[in-house]
Amino acid sequence: MRSFKHYIGGRFDADSDGDRFDVVNPVTGLKFGTVPHALLPTVNSAVTAAHSALSGQWGDLDTAGRCRVLRRVADGIEDRFEEFVAAEIADTGKPYALASSVDIPRGISNFRSYADLALGRAEETHNTTTPDGLGALNYTVRRPLGVVAVISPWNLPLLLLTWKVAPALAMGNTVVAKPSELTPSTATLLAEVMDEAGVPPGVFNLIHGLGTDSAGALLTSHPGVDAIAFTGETRTGSAIMSAAARNLTPVSFELGGKNAGLVFADADLEQAVEGTIASAFTNSGQVCLCTERLYVQREVFDDFATALAARAKELVLGRPYDAGTQLGPLVSAEHRAKVLAYFRQAAAEGTVLAGGAVPEFGDDRDGGFYVQPTVLAGLPETHLVVRDEIFGPVVHLAPFDTEDEAVRLANDSPYGLAATLWTTDVSRAHRLAPRLEVGITWVNCWNLRDLRTPFGGVKASGIGREGGTHSLDFFSEPTNVCVKL
Ligand code: NDP
Repeated sequence: MRSFKHYIGGRFDADSDGDRFDVVNPVTGLKFGTVPHALLPTVNSAVTAAHSALSGQWGDLDTAGRCRVLRRVADGIEDRFEEFVAAEIADTGKPYALASSVDIPRGISNFRSYADLALGRAEETHNTTTPDGLGALNYTVRRPLGVVAVISPWNLPLLLLTWKVAPALAMGNTVVAKPSELTPSTATLLAEVMDEAGVPPGVFNLIHGLGTDSAGALLTSHPGVDAIAFTGETRTGSAIMSAAARNLTPVSFELGGKNAGLVFADADLEQAVEGTIASAFTNSGQVCLCTERLYVQREVFDDFATALAARAKELVLGRPYDAGTQLGPLVSAEHRAKVLAYFRQAAAEGTVLAGGAVPEFGDDRDGGFYVQPTVLAGLPETHLVVRDEIFGPVVHLAPFDTEDEAVRLANDSPYGLAATLWTTDVSRAHRLAPRLEVGITWVNCWNLRDLRTPFGGVKASGIGREGGTHSLDFFSEPTNVCVKL
């Protein structure tokens, strides 16, 4: 049984001031560890440690020095690659193939990419005309914001934590991170790697605990926190924004999605089916970018629906390390209960083309949190299954006739994170992409990411952009220096 610890000021021995809570393996539902619950004294210690570390060793480093440290962190994760994969699997139950090809490699590349970007960044300069004709030189200096609170979710634990920690550190900030209560393992390994890589004490601090009325809320309302970077549900973002308002703390939010896909009759239908299998079911649908609403042009709707449902039924649910496993369980019993409630409503009022139930294995996996990949149709656009983010392996299909109707349906959502467009008509793709109210549109692909590009959502899907220089901008304060010549 593992006993997790906070990591504060370079030490792992800071224990809990609240109760401990359990962490459970989603494959079997069995408890494998306990996690300390940070209350105010622990949150205060972490913020104080982060403040102290802003000057001294860390503050004295220039960008090149900090980036050398970040590269050592990336190397440290790489050296312990299989340990990280195993830790991610223990918390989430995701397939080995996914954790070892996406989660952990992206954790590594987040540190390397932001080190490269911070080092290669050119600041703006302006030669200014002055009345005496001698001129002035204006240039921009970027300074760290200070102590950054990083709050991350459970679906891609290391990937989404490092996506914020790496640029925050690259710009000279210090961090207090709170991972999801469900996924403490890779964050803990990351703290070990930070230590081994020579990150000075207090630069990276890790506290565990629950979100509401607890560690997360205490951290985001803390007057010693200078910025908040959060990925998670829209409702939580709203609570954090209220807390942050008291101290005017700047926020960067990556929130929920109810992403639409549009399949036109001229699309390569085989490619669109395979693309939708990936976009609806990767990580058992627990990716903010997953497609949960798919609109298919009427003349190909039936063929497409039949093909997609057949492929969904072929997907292999299994243990993380079994060869051939394509889908793992959902993250928790609570989350599965929520997803199944939507499945029941869909079955009562619409058509279930594939899945819709809990698989039976006849072994210890029946204690875990699996659900079948599910394809639905026939629900009105006003139905909660079509409106709410379900965050499970589920997609609802509906037909459309014209481009305008497709755009209207796609945009008819409180969310605006990502969209997929499946068409072989290049003009149509360029015509429609700017009309979609989202932060990211993928044409004939899904989740093809270049870490230099802006990432984020509109409407209820987020505030601000991360990725590339957008993250470096958020995590730093530009100061104008004007030198009279
Ligand atoms: P939650 O919003 O429930 O939790 C995210 C984090 O916030 C957790 O660490 C949580 O702690 C913490 N938290 C909860 N309440 C508060 C609070 N009042 N103050 C401060 N922190 C709090 O999200 P999930 O973990 O359930 O993740 C799934 C969600 O994340 C989905 O909506 C998904 O769309 C979104 N997401 C968005 C992405 C994007 O880039 N747009 C990417 C990935 C996911 P605790 O675990 O204890 O509740």
